[in-house]
Amino acid sequence: MTDTSADLVILGGGSGGYAAAFRAAELGLSVTLIEKDKLGGTCLHRGCIPTKALLHAAEVADTARDGEQFGVKTTFDGVDIAGVNKYKDAIISRLYKGLQGLAKSHKVNLVEGSGTFVGGTTVEVEGTRYTGKNVILATGSYSRTLPGLELGGRIIASEQALALDYVPKKAVVLGGGVIGVEFASVWASFGTEVTIVEALPRLVPAEDEFASKQLERAFRRRKIAFKTGVKFTGAKQDDNGVSVSLESGETLEADLLLVAVGRGPNTAGHGYEEAGVTMDRGFVLTDDRLRTNLPNVYAVGDIVPGLQLAHRGFAQGIFVAEEIAGLAPRAIDEAGIPRVTYSHPEVASVGLTEAQAKDKYGSDVVTFTYDLGGNGKSQILKTSGAIKLVKAPDGPVVGLHLVGDRVGELIGEAQLIYNWEAFPEDVAPLIHAHPTQTEALGEAHLALAGKPLHVHS
Ligand SMILES: Cc1cc2nc3c(=O)[nH]c(=O)nc-3n(C[C@H](O)[C@H](O)[C@H](O)COP(=O)(O)OP(=O)(O)OC[C@H]3O[C@@H](n4cnc5c(N)ncnc54)[C@H](O)[C@@H]3O)c2cc1C
Repeated sequence: MTDTSADLVILGGGSGGYAAAFRAAELGLSVTLIEKDKLGGTCLHRGCIPTKALLHAAEVADTARDGEQFGVKTTFDGVDIAGVNKYKDAIISRLYKGLQGLAKSHKVNLVEGSGTFVGGTTVEVEGTRYTGKNVILATGSYSRTLPGLELGGRIIASEQALALDYVPKKAVVLGGGVIGVEFASVWASFGTEVTIVEALPRLVPAEDEFASKQLERAFRRRKIAFKTGVKFTGAKQDDNGVSVSLESGETLEADLLLVAVGRGPNTAGHGYEEAGVTMDRGFVLTDDRLRTNLPNVYAVGDIVPGLQLAHRGFAQGIFVAEEIAGLAPRAIDEAGIPRVTYSHPEVASVGLTEAQAKDKYGSDVVTFTYDLGGNGKSQILKTSGAIKLVKAPDGPVVGLHLVGDRVGELIGEAQLIYNWEAFPEDVAPLIHAHPTQTEALGEAHLALAGKPLHVHS
């Protein structure tokens, strides 16, 4: 058995793991990064990037279909899925090459293989032991299913949905969270008849109720069917299709059932439990410095309870690298992490929902909703939607919730407002270019500061 040492050993080369590796290398630490599949992990190969490429292709399909609304003669002749996949895969492969180049230029020792955490600060890969002064666990997540619902054939998870070589005629999407809603949006634009089934009472249930209502209204207009507050009871498949039964007694027939009921932590079989890492339902528990219960062992990304988002993984990876290097970085405020659902329309938010703010600050929380009907650029784009601000009593803006096409791009400003604890009076004097959708953020803050401009009273 050979034993190799480094300042830092990282298990898993996804968003969390590679961010930690690059930042630690920048800070002069020697880094070994162990990855059993491809550097970049879920986000690059099976998550953020491929789904957003499909969503962009979907937007192009909608634009082709709707040209007439803008006085332009276009026709939508259908989707060439091989062409869509080629476009998507080319983006992934370009970014993957870039990432491999970055690993090389940072002089990260990239070890290919499946690693097992064997305790202390050591990870073993096929008989070789890699011991660090510190270890980061970053093994990511997998698509969950429900008890008794086996994935296979016409019952698929997001990984298979991304690799389809045809557009389904009819699809049922189980789960109305981010991933379910994004696929429903893509398929509807591609011409699929989609029904979403969600056990909770509303779509995107983690968002402010306002956002769910806005999205549901838009989906109704797009003829995307959804059944909320209803439980799935079973699915049967044969050569012709899949039949999905619901607690209500109803049965839905489709070509495919996409199971999008959340992601579980990928922590089983990697030695964590055996080494004594404290876990809860498979998630690795950490303190706010991302330390596990074991000395010099940290965890980042989707295996740590909280938002399962790539940029949270990046931030946590950078945080731990800086912590290990002695820079004492500021702890990450989970509520300050921006969240975007890239459906048509988009849903974006940062900070607290109105309900969370009321729990924290009491019933005197102030809210203001600005309709995109008053925003010139949104009218030009023909998108409807709104922005809702949530403000602490006599305090800063503590929640921003946005719905509408392209509002994901506004989250950059929204997250500065939240994270810098801005008062409406701080934002009101800042000038927003006209005509942009950012003006809607400006207008909402002007109104909350008591000087509304384009607002009907
Ligand atoms: C369909 C979909 C769409 C998404 N869209 C977005 C989005 O738009 N925006 C966003 O922010 N997030 C999105 N996400 C979530 C995002 O992909 C994850 O939050 C992110 O990838 C988590 O990073 P991670 O480093 O924790 O894990 P991962 O990216 O899963 O990486 C973990 C890595 O560890 C490796 N590994 C696991 N076990 C071992 C082992 N024993 N030995 C060696 N290597 C191992 C795996 O091969 C993998 O490469 C999406 C996810 C999905 C599924």
